[in-house]
Amino acid sequence: MTQTAGINNTFSPLVLRNSLNKAFFDKGIKGPVIASITKSLRSNVVITTTSDFTADFVLQKQAIWEKLVSFQRAQIDNPWFKVVAHGIPTLNFHIENGPELIIDEIKTFNKGYNSIGTPYWLTSVEKRMAQKAGAVAISFATEEKANRAIKNRLYIAGISVRVVKYTSTAPTTQCTKCQLYGHIDQNCRKPPKCNLCASGHYTTQHYCSICKAKGKKCIHLEPKCINCNLPHLANDKSCEVYTAIKGRLNSLINE
Ligand SMILES: [Zn+2]
Ligand SMILES: [Zn+2]
Ligand SMILES: [Zn+2]
Ligand SMILES: [Zn+2]
Repeated sequence: MTQTAGINNTFSPLVLRNSLNKAFFDKGIKGPVIASITKSLRSNVVITTTSDFTADFVLQKQAIWEKLVSFQRAQIDNPWFKVVAHGIPTLNFHIENGPELIIDEIKTFNKGYNSIGTPYWLTSVEKRMAQKAGAVAISFATEEKANRAIKNRLYIAGISVRVVKYTSTAPTTQCTKCQLYGHIDQNCRKPPKCNLCASGHYTTQHYCSICKAKGKKCIHLEPKCINCNLPHLANDKSCEVYTAIKGRLNSLINE
């Protein structure tokens, strides 16, 4: 995204990036949203989003950041189109320069596909130690490239790997099916847990035998949180599991 801005001499990409990210965070957007801020030759400010967010999103949320940057016009340069490559061998790439190697593999063995940014593991470190393969997020400059990769797969590490559309999920996103964090119900492979009582049923199937309330809180409810076992609803924002995840994000933004 580019904006034509009146920049003064105190322009600091780091300070500006952090203040923008903080503004988003304060509005409940779990970022970081902005990856970098640079000045172009024509003194435009170029704001690049992290691959979880699009320039479109930043434009839509102009009200959040417009007071922090002076500008006359904001326009979109190039959104990133992100995919997830599954079955990437952890043995070959679970090393420090793994992401760079993946960039190389994509470039060398998939003609016409240049990934942008740095690919990163979606599979946690613990799982990568235990599993033979994991998932990696890869960004392309155009939607056409991303769609082509989804359709034709990619060659990485000598194998043809499955590629799917990336759906961004913040670490604080809570699954409405199992009540755990970091995924949504459409991608949930865990058994259902009730948001109200932590039992093994869907929240919609929760039932009070006294007042016959179904799928909702009633005065007879003794709530229990599946994440921390305390007597509150699983989606209670004061839950220590939730605040811990949120705290980690916050420190990431403030570095
Ligand atoms: Zn789930
Ligand atoms: Zn229940
Ligand atoms: Zn009841
Ligand atoms: Zn809790």
